Amino acid sequence: MTKPELLAPAGDMEKLETALDYGADAVYVGGDQFGLRAMAGNFSVAELARAQERVRERDKKLYLTLNAYLRPAQMPELRRTLEELRPLDLDAYIISDPGVLAVVREVDSARELHLSTQANTTNAQAARFWQETGVERVNLARELTLEEIRHIRRETTVGLEVFVHGAMCVAYSGRCLLSTALTGRSANAGACAQPCRWNYALMEETRPGQYFPIEEDDRGSYVFNSRDLCLLEYLPDLVGAGVDSLKIEGRMKTLYYVAAVTRVYRAALDAYAADPAGYVMDPAWLEELDKVSHRPYDRGFLFGAEDALVHAADSRYQRTHDFVGIVRRVDDGGRLLVECRNRFFPGEELELIGPAMRQAQFVAGELTAEGGGALEVAQPNALVLLPGPAGTRQGDLLRRQKVAG
Ligand code: SF4
Repeated sequence: MTKPELLAPAGDMEKLETALDYGADAVYVGGDQFGLRAMAGNFSVAELARAQERVRERDKKLYLTLNAYLRPAQMPELRRTLEELRPLDLDAYIISDPGVLAVVREVDSARELHLSTQANTTNAQAARFWQETGVERVNLARELTLEEIRHIRRETTVGLEVFVHGAMCVAYSGRCLLSTALTGRSANAGACAQPCRWNYALMEETRPGQYFPIEEDDRGSYVFNSRDLCLLEYLPDLVGAGVDSLKIEGRMKTLYYVAAVTRVYRAALDAYAADPAGYVMDPAWLEELDKVSHRPYDRGFLFGAEDALVHAADSRYQRTHDFVGIVRRVDDGGRLLVECRNRFFPGEELELIGPAMRQAQFVAGELTAEGGGALEVAQPNALVLLPGPAGTRQGDLLRRQKVAG
């Protein structure tokens, strides 16, 4: 059995460190330009150089997303950017536009290339086509079934990557003009405003302002709204299918999301690789994934299109926990210096999570400002000292169960 790589998203430097700490083998990031996810806190060339050093020190990999479809006027800028990037030791570029591939080949011919899901590769012939152009790995379309993934594996030698977790489009990934039409922000330039998740109503032409709700249930309508992908339960099938890399979606997502999701897939993958025959999925892992803000999970198209038809059930975000802070330091007396992300009070029940599925419940004790002085509340962005559970380490995260209502 070949153990696939676990590939996690990183919207900025802090998330990159978090992804590595929480078990990613490789991280993908976006540059200042040409990477989809225009608002994901993209990396400058200098930051990419620093990111690459950090990744190399830890013997992991770094891929740069250059997967927008470009217009003629953008090509000279692409060439300049690629020349600037050429000295960096990035492990691969993720591309989808054949024009971008051609320019990379001219400017930086030795660079490894991975094909983005945006290219919608759905068959072995397409995978082989891309391999012949020099692409070393193909991220398969999310719309494939497990059987189709197995077939493509049998019929090709190119590296195969699949998404295992995260948001899905209601179109083939990125092949959607809804955002461009309604907001002028193009999904293909990384600026999707996600209008597929807005609320819609029906209006008769001669009655402006009279909105008739389109109701699938008592809370509204979700005709455009996709559930989130979660293939944790099917990791053994994907490993058995010969997939080389398992990718987590979400360069726009929070640091907490990156940590919580990456550590679960790390634990499952390691447990399966250590003992494939005796492997049983720990239900606690799924519970952990439920503690991250998400729409109801779904297995997408893995077992066929029927399964992926529009669900009438609610597909709004589910959020059971709030991320409240990051442990920046643990002092000799076991006090934690926490950078707060959400308000919390002394006496509140908190939960600490760390890499390798470490976690502990505790009650927040006395809160002290970093510079001294008791606090009645820990405010967002403040640095606060408080006693913490034994074994806490720098980089651990604190969360709190969301109060109902
Ligand atoms: S509007 Fe929705 S379906 Fe279309 S690209 Fe954006 S997220 Fe995907």
